[in-house]
This record gives sequence, structure tokens and C-alpha cells, in this order.
Amino acid sequence: MDSKQLYQEVILDHNRKPRNYGRLEHPTQSSEGLNPLCGDHIWLHVHLDGDRIDGIAFEGQSCAICKASASMMTAAVKGKSVAEAEALVDAFRGMVTGTVDPATPGNPIGRLAVFAGVKDLPSRVKCAVLPWHTLHAALDAQAVASTEGDQDPMGTAG
Ligand code: ZN
Repeated sequence: MDSKQLYQEVILDHNRKPRNYGRLEHPTQSSEGLNPLCGDHIWLHVHLDGDRIDGIAFEGQSCAICKASASMMTAAVKGKSVAEAEALVDAFRGMVTGTVDPATPGNPIGRLAVFAGVKDLPSRVKCAVLPWHTLHAALDAQAVASTEGDQDPMGTAG
């Protein structure tokens, strides 16, 4: 299976069976993520125990790439510390914007490297990165993350 087939397989699988889809009973933080260009609109709920993410869930309406990215993200950061999760946010964003080589030693991206090809699909980069923006906003106690304008917490507008 080449990387493109693997990518399509992963997207399909996570759309059929999204991980951690729904709500948490008592989230300690929640954020809303908007990608107006595509229409992706998600909510992310996080439960922090100290600085550890012991619960995370997402819900909303989004395209397949956004949903698969959110699903894999929640699986990847569950049980991790805030610092580890933020390092993954940076690694993922760097990978899909083409500024960080995911093969760099020590890069924490792991199986999320399946999204590396998104960097060659400019119209889909924001779809893939939206859940990660939203996670960053939630951990930073911001209510809304958008891929556009002043609300973009990571400065990728335009
Ligand atoms: Zn989208």
C-alpha cells in the first residue's frame, strides 16, 4: 500500500468510525473551531486532570479530512500532558504547512504522518489543521479558533 492509498484508507476508516466523537460529561475546557472556507465547524471538549488530558471529545459538521484529523488527534493526545499535546500541535501544523519535515529525528508525529500529503493540497490544509488549532485554543482557554482573521491563534490566515 503506498502513502496515498494509506491516506485514503485512514480517512475512510476515521469517517466511518470517528474516535472520541461526542461530548464529555464535565469538560474543563471547550473550544469551537471554524474553517469558513470549507464550512468545517467543530466543538472540542477537553478534561484536564492537572496538566494531563484525561478526556477529550469532538463533535460538529466537517468534511472528511477535518473529521479524520480530529479523530486521530483526539486518539493521539488522550493521556498526554499539555506540553506533549502542544508539541504535537506544532509538529502537525509544521508538517501540513511544509515547514517541518516529519522524518526529523525526535519528531513526535508518529502515525499522524499519514497526513503529510495534505501539504500538496493547499485547499485542504486548513481542514486538516482546524482540529489542532481548536485544541491549541482549548488548552489556552480560548473559546473560539478560526482558520481566518484575528481569531486564528496560530497565525496561518491567508
Ligand atoms: Zn474541510
